[in-house]
Amino acid sequence: MNILEIIEAKKLGRELTDAEIEAGERLLAESAENMGKTLDTDDLPNLLKGNALNPRWESIADKCLSCANCTMVCPTCFCNTVDDNLSLDGEHATRTGKWDSCFTLGFSYMHGQPMRESVGARYRQWITHKLATWVDQFGEMGCVGCGRCITWCPVGIDLTAEVESLGRSPEAAS
Ligand code: SF4
Ligand code: SF4
Repeated sequence: MNILEIIEAKKLGRELTDAEIEAGERLLAESAENMGKTLDTDDLPNLLKGNALNPRWESIADKCLSCANCTMVCPTCFCNTVDDNLSLDGEHATRTGKWDSCFTLGFSYMHGQPMRESVGARYRQWITHKLATWVDQFGEMGCVGCGRCITWCPVGIDLTAEVESLGRSPEAAS
């Protein structure tokens, strides 16, 4: 039994069988065993919140293309926006919901300017929300540890390495 079959059973709205639960637990344990990376989550929300002005964010920005790939592949990212359009004859109006990303300049646009103009500020926003303020909102971190954002980052930015660098920076130690 694979994970898709288990999800399908769940979608059917019936209770999972013992065999399905067992298969789910086995797959979860196998995934954890195969994970080569680690992230020290001890006091991580406070580490991130306490480093809003860390110069490290601008070093990340030297590499980050602000392409939004990481947010598009992340299973927990939910930023979205709406497009409002009116036909030229004024007869039809449409409102279309679509995915957006906190990495785009326009996402934080308000009152005539974007609130997060630099790429560093946008990377900080993404990782701080995911690993710190998400806890305030939902009671847990917004990262399931899947590693997709690392796999699909075209320049190899790795959030586990970035957190580690932040923890070792002089500002974090002070
Ligand atoms: S590792 Fe975390 S932040 Fe990255 S894609 Fe997976 S859930 Fe999202
Ligand atoms: S995928 Fe990489 S380069 Fe693109 S926005 Fe995310 S961290 Fe930056």
